[in-house]
Amino acid sequence: MRKDSPKIIHKVAELQKFALNARAKGKSIGLVPTMGALHDGHISLVLRSAKDNDICIVSIFVNPIQFGKNEDFDKYPRRLKIDAELCGAAGASVIFAPSASDMYPVPIQTLVRNFELEGLYCGAYRTGHFSGVLSVVAKLFNISLPKIAYFGEKDYQQLFLIKKMVFDLNFPVKIVGMPTIREKSGLARSSRNEYMTAEEREQAAAIYAGLKAARQKFENGTVSCAELKKIVKKYIENAGGKIQYVEIAKDSDLLSIKSAKITEPSVILVACFFGKTRLIDHIIIAD
Ligand code: AMP
Repeated sequence: MRKDSPKIIHKVAELQKFALNARAKGKSIGLVPTMGALHDGHISLVLRSAKDNDICIVSIFVNPIQFGKNEDFDKYPRRLKIDAELCGAAGASVIFAPSASDMYPVPIQTLVRNFELEGLYCGAYRTGHFSGVLSVVAKLFNISLPKIAYFGEKDYQQLFLIKKMVFDLNFPVKIVGMPTIREKSGLARSSRNEYMTAEEREQAAAIYAGLKAARQKFENGTVSCAELKKIVKKYIENAGGKIQYVEIAKDSDLLSIKSAKITEPSVILVACFFGKTRLIDHIIIAD
């Protein structure tokens, strides 16, 4: 594992040339796609990628086509220098930090879409978000030629959609999903946590507390979707949060459970606001 400063590459053509050369020499490449403002969650992916591969590439790109008009594209935190240092310390060899004009020299006309799932859960509130994510990930795969790419379970629907894209379109890439890294309070680490006040951040611990309470209730025999959702909502609302959605999906295909009861391994998915900050989390419930 390397510990010195990673090479920073800004140009698409330069990274693609680097990756082609590395692959021709038989080197394995691990890719960790991120939007930067890195925290321990991202770093857990970088550490694993650096351990598994000859070369670990971390992409840092705030991808404009996955943000809606009224979302936080402009205010999303950007701090390349600190991020590069963190990645270097975690063993990354290359940081790929392209400009939007290099990634999209002309407006993109070809998008990757998942027609079944793009409009569900987060997709119901973020039109075009998942096609933006899938399309940029497809581009990043073609530019950096990874053998393995690492994503967080934190963005559960995103991870599911990426695995499905790789399967459906036969990308020669293995996808590794990594567990969610949390703050001491249980709040999932996120670059967006820093938008919150200290008080909101404390209150937002209720999200995971509610999810764990629902899982406990399930383990104690409650299989009613409505009851389990009610628990999560109650925790969040009592802490001052505003629910966007609480849904329960089958873990096998991420489609909503049609019956009122849980009969197979499932996942509770939640999105909510604390103040103006939108947060997501999930928990698996299975026997
Ligand atoms: P982002 O920069 O938010 O696009 O995230 C880049 C990658 O890091 C994605 O695969 C995320 O799922 C993953 N990630 C973000 N937060 C966490 C976390 N708390 N634990 C583990 N992985 C995370």
